[in-house]
Amino acid sequence: MRKRRVAVLGATGAVGQAFIRLLADHPWFELAELAASERSAGKRYSDAAHWLGGEIPATVRELTVVPCDPAAVKAGIVFSALDSSVAGDVEQEFARDGRLVVSNAKNHRMAPDVPLIIAEVNPEHLALLETQRVRRGWEGGIVTNGNCSTIAFVSAIAPLHRAFGLRRAIVTTLQAVSGAGYPGVPSLDALGNVIPFIRDEEEKIEEETRKFLGVLDGDAVAPAAVMIGAQCTRVPVENGHTICATLDFENQPSPEDARRVLCEWRGADVARGLPTSPERPVVLRDEPDRPQPRRDVDTGGGMSTVVGRVRQDPVFGGIRLVAMAHNVMRGAAGAAVQNAELLVAGGLLPEP
Ligand code: NAP
Repeated sequence: MRKRRVAVLGATGAVGQAFIRLLADHPWFELAELAASERSAGKRYSDAAHWLGGEIPATVRELTVVPCDPAAVKAGIVFSALDSSVAGDVEQEFARDGRLVVSNAKNHRMAPDVPLIIAEVNPEHLALLETQRVRRGWEGGIVTNGNCSTIAFVSAIAPLHRAFGLRRAIVTTLQAVSGAGYPGVPSLDALGNVIPFIRDEEEKIEEETRKFLGVLDGDAVAPAAVMIGAQCTRVPVENGHTICATLDFENQPSPEDARRVLCEWRGADVARGLPTSPERPVVLRDEPDRPQPRRDVDTGGGMSTVVGRVRQDPVFGGIRLVAMAHNVMRGAAGAAVQNAELLVAGGLLPEP
């Protein structure tokens, strides 16, 4: 297969760097261009980025950063790791110019004609891309992945929802500092502390979950009728968002039935075998003190959601569990690269 040329917008940030790691040696994509703000444009990538771990891949080290402008970026597929203050307009400019934008930013996720995708959970929602192109009269398009905590939560509960019908969920998150990008949360706020507020995060979990679990009906997604109450906290963990969930189902499963469903779950057929797909989208741990970010965050190359503490809930009679996933990989760059692979595998992108 000839590789498709791709670019990363927001290439200097925390998620942008994860894109570079995933794309530097990707079997289907050739990372050709890196774009960021006017502060970085014109500089060598190695001078513009505050690289967060290991070595910068040699293939990008010397690349000159360009501005996030369709006139300066040529690639047909554009991964967006842009700050949400600019992502809305910039992503639309690229889509209008015929590019396929695969975005991490929140701005377009809830638009009715924009696919919000977890490859293993709702790949059929990609059909919205055609609706979007017709409605907006552009040849490009925007495909999004979810908020990082929402992806961890939905990856864990989607198989249970399919099997038992989720009605209500109470969710508390313990979110890593890398979720706030770089430099992110000031160290004196983060160290030895818990911050019980992350702007807009609770709303994202509540709204995006219903879209992820919704049913594609013609040219729109009918959101799932699930009530969700979220409480989000920031904790001094480097990578890995932990989600503590209490779940109430139409048909309440026993913990054994819930464990069996999670254990057998391999995700949608079309997502299996993609270069970034983990063998097991959900990895179940039986030890009473797992999952833990420090021990489990790199499971499945950072693309598996690790679930543990599956037990009976004494309040609703449903299930309690703890889920944990790598916020930058499963919850951001890895999810977007996997979505782009899904588009290629589904024949939704022109030949290179
Ligand atoms: P970040 O570290 O703050 O990086 C932001 C990037 O946006 C940088 O490359 C920055 O370039 C660029 N940028 C800022 N202002 C710009 C402008 N006016 N024009 C063009 N580029 C501009 O943030 P991040 O954590 O990587 O997050 C990136 C996006 O992914 C955000 O929308 C975030 O909400 C989303 N997200 C993040 C995570 C996570 O775990 N971190 C998870 C899911 C989704 P300069 O370096 O040149 O300023």
